[in-house]
Amino acid sequence: TLTVGVIAVQGDVSEHEAAIRRAAHNHDVDPTVREIRTTGEVPDCDVLLMPGGESTTISRLLQKQGIDAEIRSHVEAGNPLFATCAGLIVASRNPKDDRVRSLDLLDISIDRNAFGRQRDSFETQLRVDGLEAPFPSVFIRAPLIDTVGSDVEVLAEYDGSPVAVQEGPVVGTSFHPELTSDTRLHGLALFDTDRS
Ligand code: GLN
Repeated sequence: TLTVGVIAVQGDVSEHEAAIRRAAHNHDVDPTVREIRTTGEVPDCDVLLMPGGESTTISRLLQKQGIDAEIRSHVEAGNPLFATCAGLIVASRNPKDDRVRSLDLLDISIDRNAFGRQRDSFETQLRVDGLEAPFPSVFIRAPLIDTVGSDVEVLAEYDGSPVAVQEGPVVGTSFHPELTSDTRLHGLALFDTDRS
């Protein structure tokens, strides 16, 4: 069976697990879901998800445990990773904050808490590439993606800024798809095996 690993060192792990189960049901798959807190677990996972939370804490714990290198190998081998909010910050090449130890998996630069400074949290309907109807998008002290590399595909924008991106097997959102009942983004990122 398919094994989904949820990086569980910190953040909104249980909400993502529930969303993964709903998405799996809609995709007719019955995955094993594992919470990753130590090394040796990532290599057994087919797909990975890195939740939101607090990016400096998540990245520090990943490095301390040695999970950072395993996540990098997972992606280098072409395996899917879905990174949301703080997870997206940790995955970005340039988080513009020395306290975030970047995994350098997505060629973007990102401003932590940029939306938060203007408007703490809000929900809006966004058009997302690959999804037919708009997606209900919840932003909570969300990061702002300010530059994207040439290999990065922008899947959605809000107010002229990218808020959902993809580079090879990595999909990232600055908002929280796990906080709505809509499972399409989890499905697209984790269970759509033939996306390019
Ligand atoms: N502001 C958080 C950070 O910088 C991310 C917010 C979130 O994940 N909801 O880590």
